[in-house]
Amino acid sequence: MLKVEENQGVTCLEGNVVSSGIKLGTVYAFLVDGMLVDTGPQIIESEFTSYLLEQSFELVTLTHSHEDHSGNAPWIQKTKQVPIYIHPLGVEICAQASPYPKYRQLTWGVREKFRAIPLGETIQTQTRQWRVIYTPGHAEDHVSLLDEGTGRLFSGDLFVTPRTKVIMDSESIPVIMNSIRTLLKYGFESMFCCHAGYIPNGKEMLIKKLEYLENLYGEVENLYKKGLSIEEIKHKLFPKDYPIIRFSSGEWDSLHIISSIAAHFELEKDKSCSFPETL
Ligand SMILES: [Zn+2]
Repeated sequence: MLKVEENQGVTCLEGNVVSSGIKLGTVYAFLVDGMLVDTGPQIIESEFTSYLLEQSFELVTLTHSHEDHSGNAPWIQKTKQVPIYIHPLGVEICAQASPYPKYRQLTWGVREKFRAIPLGETIQTQTRQWRVIYTPGHAEDHVSLLDEGTGRLFSGDLFVTPRTKVIMDSESIPVIMNSIRTLLKYGFESMFCCHAGYIPNGKEMLIKKLEYLENLYGEVENLYKKGLSIEEIKHKLFPKDYPIIRFSSGEWDSLHIISSIAAHFELEKDKSCSFPETL
């Protein structure tokens, strides 16, 4: 059963994925002003669809194409016939049936293909206009939605936790940091996160996350400049062996935190080397 809660005019739909009594994850979708933000994972389709069948909404916006957010979009397209929007980079991914590894299909379900419409710079709901802010780093097609009038932000998977310990190999810490900096330029207070739910002091929590990542960045930089390898830095900063690392065959790993930061130093180095040194 979905847990349904109302916060700041947003209906928060909380779904829990449980396997053999073990909770694998919590995923939220949100209903606001006639718009559904994300759709939940297919593996608990019946929980989301039995609730959504009774609700009226005119459009769906996906914060990104990951299967725990887009899982029930094909059902919505068939049943509700409402437009489903995503960042232009996500359209092609939605047109493919479950383009992700087996362990993710077992965890989140099998998402069929569906037709998504590219988002513009804003999205209009019944009474509000939402600013679509491009916030890559977690996924290339990731956006956040902001209602500047009421200070409500949908942050997709940009936040999740203030102290990130493992990421996917497709993620980049420096790009995530830049996306957080982009969001912090705007006025907002509350945040709706797809895994942590309603966070009343959202801006404060995003600042906390940025501070944690900036510290981490500095630590990696120091060790890297001392000549330590990426593996050695991982063992120093993240010695714990998280079960997800093995379960995902390394798609998730603390190592990707270090390597994405190191790749950023190399990029900066290349930039500064591109000037002629003959002067
Ligand atoms: Zn995601």
